[in-house]
Amino acid sequence: MSQSEHKYSLTTRIFIGLVAGTLVGVLLQLLFDDSGDLRFTIFGYSFSTYNILVEGIFSTLGQIFIASLKMLVVPLVFVSLICGTSSLTEPSKLGRLGAKSIGLYIFTTAVAISLALSLALLIGPGDAVSISTDVTYTAKEAPSLSSVIVDMFPTNPINAMAQGNMLQIIIFAVLLGVAMAMCGDAGKRIANFFEDINTVIMKLVTIIMNLAPYGVFVLMAKLFSSIGWEMLEGLTVYFLLVLGVLFLHAILTYSAMLKAFTGLNPIILFRKMRDAAQFAFTTSSSSATLPVTMETARNKLGVGKSVSSFTLPLGSTINMDGTAIMQGVATVFIANVYGVDLALQDYLMVVLTATLASIGTAGVPGVGLIMLAMVLQQVNLPVEGIALIIGVDRLLDMTRTAVNITGDCTVACIIAKSENELDEAKFNDLNAGLEEEEVDLEHFDKNS
Ligand code: ASP
Repeated sequence: MSQSEHKYSLTTRIFIGLVAGTLVGVLLQLLFDDSGDLRFTIFGYSFSTYNILVEGIFSTLGQIFIASLKMLVVPLVFVSLICGTSSLTEPSKLGRLGAKSIGLYIFTTAVAISLALSLALLIGPGDAVSISTDVTYTAKEAPSLSSVIVDMFPTNPINAMAQGNMLQIIIFAVLLGVAMAMCGDAGKRIANFFEDINTVIMKLVTIIMNLAPYGVFVLMAKLFSSIGWEMLEGLTVYFLLVLGVLFLHAILTYSAMLKAFTGLNPIILFRKMRDAAQFAFTTSSSSATLPVTMETARNKLGVGKSVSSFTLPLGSTINMDGTAIMQGVATVFIANVYGVDLALQDYLMVVLTATLASIGTAGVPGVGLIMLAMVLQQVNLPVEGIALIIGVDRLLDMTRTAVNITGDCTVACIIAKSENELDEAKFNDLNAGLEEEEVDLEHFDKNS
């Protein structure tokens, strides 16, 4: 169906799915408490309506939707990176792109964590909370810095792809792309082949995006039918503070950077990020959202292929500003709850480790909380403190993931502009990319 045949745009449809799913989930939670569940027996088997609906239908459909998104990530990153690097005419450009991306990603994360620490120190979350002694949290071991670096290099690229190890896939694809660029005609023939695969994969992305309103609906309904609101009461200050800093960072830091480096209007960026942010919010995974982030950057923001295919997979793996914000506020919260005074050098250590932890955090749900253990250990805070905030982390994870990918796209725009690879007319055109986003799922048009 073309855009005009739909009453609402895809963004609006996804938003409707999000709100409707949330409402249905909250309603189910209210209706189906233990006494409200409708149980019935067929052929001696006892069934619960709640289980059929939530654990059966919503959960299954939701998992299929997430699996379909994740299915695209490895082929998309691999193929688009090969296309991007093999098209680089000057070899020095790759080094430049790498240095700019990594530099900007680290810079934005350091700003994020500093903002989080400053506001948390000002507001003092956890001051009024006394610890309950029965909290336990067994920390999974956070990896050391050297193992994070060594692990970036694949010994077996097929294994890296099978395991979805993004950094290893990125390194292999970049090397392969560079070799192709150096191979003349043979390299060009293979590059053309990969270009075609890339076009087909991007079409698959749009097909799955068109199913998103339903996917988003079932995921939200499932989440909100089982979420524990009781936890929120004791943790309101922590929760609201993390949310507040996330919004501040997104609005202030990203706007200021975009304006300063490119002169572009940040409001347009935020408007165009809506689809991708809704995906990130629903899936809590930068990695699963990557296909949509790439589509947004290319078709709506006008970021050139060689920049988007390099900076975005890298960003979804190493750039986690939202995660660093949660870690900063959580560190101050846990220190306050346990009555530990941190010195200035401890805070500097938090900035350093949270920035590194953000590089080591995989773009999947909840990993930021595991990496928080590394930050807490570094400043001798009790890792069990994580148990205090785990109950409200899912909601914060959703929001910080949306911030993480907005940061990736902001940096992509800045780098594209500096490389003369930003199509500003496309960036400023509010309708750019909308046609490509809509696919006719009922009729196949040979030319589309
Ligand atoms: N869920 C986050 C992401 O994918 C990572 C985290 O903070 O847990 O970006």
